[in-house]
Amino acid sequence: MADRYLNFTGTAPGRFLTRRLGLPQPSTLRRWAPERPSLEGELLHLTAGKTPSALTDLSSVLARTHPLKLAHDSSRPTAVVLDATGISDAPDLALVHAALHPVVRSVAENGRVVVLGAPVSPSDHHQAAAQQALEGFVRSLGKELGGGRTATLVRVRSAVAAESTLRFLLSPRSAYVSGQVIEVGETEGERPALDWDRPLSGRTALVTGAARGIGEAVAEVLARDGARVVVLDVPSAQADLVRVADRLGGTALPLDITADDAGERMASALAPGGLDILVHNAGITRDRKLANMPADRWNAVLDVNLTSVLRTTDALLKSGTLNRGGSVVATASIAGIAGNAGQTNYAAGKAGIIGLVRALAPGALAEYGVNVNAVAPGFIETKMTAAVPPLIREAGRRMNSLAQGGLPVDVAETTAWLSSPASGGVNGQVVRVCGQSLLGS
Ligand code: NAD
Repeated sequence: MADRYLNFTGTAPGRFLTRRLGLPQPSTLRRWAPERPSLEGELLHLTAGKTPSALTDLSSVLARTHPLKLAHDSSRPTAVVLDATGISDAPDLALVHAALHPVVRSVAENGRVVVLGAPVSPSDHHQAAAQQALEGFVRSLGKELGGGRTATLVRVRSAVAAESTLRFLLSPRSAYVSGQVIEVGETEGERPALDWDRPLSGRTALVTGAARGIGEAVAEVLARDGARVVVLDVPSAQADLVRVADRLGGTALPLDITADDAGERMASALAPGGLDILVHNAGITRDRKLANMPADRWNAVLDVNLTSVLRTTDALLKSGTLNRGGSVVATASIAGIAGNAGQTNYAAGKAGIIGLVRALAPGALAEYGVNVNAVAPGFIETKMTAAVPPLIREAGRRMNSLAQGGLPVDVAETTAWLSSPASGGVNGQVVRVCGQSLLGS
């Protein structure tokens, strides 16, 4: 369903009129394209904090994010990275203002502000107050920037462990990710040598619900990044599924994920090489207010969106089908964070995904060497949202800092970053792909 308002504000008269009327000003977002895979221009590296930064290798990591040109002074930066890991008490926050106030107005359209914070200390309430303050700061900045610019806070322990995250955030791939707080832990062992243009080379990915919509886009982006894809959907969607598999040089696996033996059938379809990336994307809605909701609608949603995700994940981990160094990405929703009238079943299932991811992540990494994260899409332009009544759809599109809906590819790019072998330090995170929706925290 085309966003006619976005197209209108993209014209000079449209922009003039909507500005005069004080209406939202969405900008056409700069997304990844084969001929323009990177953001261009200057990357301004700033530091704020009295305590010396722990990120001794940050400059060299940032220097590798070509073709952005690393600068310590720039009149029109495309991206600003502020190392605020040394902020350890409330008075230090003045340094954040001093660093960003002079440059914030000059950040280029579709630019990025990335603030690097330190993990919040549970035992030092001064450090905790100051570092938590960065969260409110970044979330507010995301709401102020406009022009397709985004703001993100990344809590880091080492710049090298955060390299894949920084590359993602400083690229057009993260166009619809703003106002987020992402924690990156340390990774153990040798870091794999990576071709950053095809980071998923040699990996096998299984994407559920991939016959259309977001799942199809995820399969496409994972294949673009080098993965061999196995696409799964219900048997009734087989024709579309085969079309997607053929287009991506992958394999179609027609299977209903609610089948009791779905996990075992996935495992045997993936033998002998196993699986490196498991993307739980299949999902359904059966909306009704609770007072009008029969048990079958409640059960169907919980069964597809949560129970089968738990069951198949357990089966694939326990059978050893998920290879060490692999990734699980499950699909939540902002409905699972903020709640939504008419979606008690759906929101319960999606909130359950968040619980599953947070609880499973530490153990899965320790025992199986697999990281587990969730993407939580906001309003994404798909068949699911095209079915929403026009007024609610229009509100859904505008009620975020970027004043527009996201595209399936935005969720796909986020999934690809979380599935990279270089993203092992990102674990147990729930990353919203929502243009910083006003709904939820
Ligand atoms: P969609 O309806 O277009 O696609 C979902 C796919 O899942 C379909 O191809 C469907 O056949 C498949 N599927 C459903 N039940 C299945 C089962 N039992 N076994 C195997 N496959 C099954 O939906 P979408 O908009 O692309 O959404 C994809 C995911 O993103 C879902 O989990 C959805 O809840 C989530 N999400 C979407 C939005 C949005 O705005 N579109 C927002 C938040 C979350």
